[in-house]
Amino acid sequence: MAERPLPGARGLTNAGLELRARAVTPGGVNSPVRAFNSVGGAPYFVARGRGAYVWDVEGRRLLDYVQSYGASILGHAHPAVVEAVARAAADGTTFGAPTEREVLLAEAICERVPGCELVRLVSSGTEAAMSAVRVARGFTGRPGVVKFAGCYHGHSDGLLAGGGSGVATLGLPGSAGVPPAAVAHTLVVPYNQMPDVGPDVACVIVEPVAANMGLVAPVPGFLEGLRRACDASGALLIFDEVITGFRVAHGGASQLTGVQPDLWCFGKVIGGGLPMGAFGGRRDVMGVLAPDGPVYQAGTLSGNPVATAAGLAVLAQLDTETYRDLSARVAQLGRDLSVALGDAGVAAQVPVVGPLLGLFFGEAPVTDFDGARASAGTGHYPAFFRAMLARGVALAPGPYEVTFPSLAHTAEDFELTVEAATAAARAVSAEQL
Ligand SMILES: *Cc1c(COP(=O)(O)O)cnc(C)c1O
Repeated sequence: MAERPLPGARGLTNAGLELRARAVTPGGVNSPVRAFNSVGGAPYFVARGRGAYVWDVEGRRLLDYVQSYGASILGHAHPAVVEAVARAAADGTTFGAPTEREVLLAEAICERVPGCELVRLVSSGTEAAMSAVRVARGFTGRPGVVKFAGCYHGHSDGLLAGGGSGVATLGLPGSAGVPPAAVAHTLVVPYNQMPDVGPDVACVIVEPVAANMGLVAPVPGFLEGLRRACDASGALLIFDEVITGFRVAHGGASQLTGVQPDLWCFGKVIGGGLPMGAFGGRRDVMGVLAPDGPVYQAGTLSGNPVATAAGLAVLAQLDTETYRDLSARVAQLGRDLSVALGDAGVAAQVPVVGPLLGLFFGEAPVTDFDGARASAGTGHYPAFFRAMLARGVALAPGPYEVTFPSLAHTAEDFELTVEAATAAARAVSAEQL
């Protein structure tokens, strides 16, 4: 193979690329949070990644906890994934006809997630959630959708009301360009509280572990209560497991919590770093989809040969033990970070669910979006983020994102992280005075 120039060797700079990007792309980015608007400073442009690390175009190495917002669980450029992608690409990148890998990936999903009997592959989490809601409406013949404040289900019109993460970071209630009619049937209610599920409600859609308003675990009884309320009303329960699926446990959050929804949304991990999503669920419910049923849904690149190859390669690396080990290591990281922040006199919460880790500034544990907003409102996240970045540790550039330690993060990487956090905590504590 030809020698590739090292990052930094081509004389590119982050600032130079940002300038060029802004000239041809709104805000210089293809997804808003990447612009660093809520943390200040300028974004780094990634030249390459390997394992737990990325290198920017100036050749600087960063310990990466963004990991594509959870799309990567093995770390970057895992050899098994790289090989699977190269092989698949060599055989043709898209056909518009069914392929074996689509069957294999659907089987792999159904095998891991009890109750998920039929799945359809799409190209993003947004599509997965949008399509799952359409299926629920088609199946029940009802219009209503109940969603929770601070939960994010992608950027489709009807689900953008009260979204977390990017929408929350921008401080927008929803988005301009979404007419009131598009969200007229969307009811937004507080997370971790039992909503009223009326007779016109088609579905309740929820992140079973909320990971787009920082990390907020479901309180005991919340998901069980949603299950009961949906059953009583005849509405469907949708778990948006785009982050938690194949991340928090072998069978995702439904396995971790023991609550089974009627429909699931998947994305991120399932695509192994390529554009991919999936939605699935009960056989009778999914049966309403075309071509068998009246609910239309389609995609030119759905079940893409390269993306399915990457997803399969990732799933092949993961078993029950991998999740248990990573979760245990991240639990310890959470405790160490908590101590580091506490020792610096910074009031903070470091929630951990499986291998997901969150960070909230403030005295009180956070259970809903109001709490998450109050934590972001302390204004401490930007200083913490910048101090970490200055020490070579890349967190997500927004207070509503979570931290994604991967299987490639070593004990030394975690040590480095705690050291950096100890210094970063002092930066925050200086701000508190
Ligand atoms: C990221 C995310 C989505 C949207 O997925 P995209 O691939 O970005 O469209 C939907 N739901 C949840 C819970 C997510 O975290």
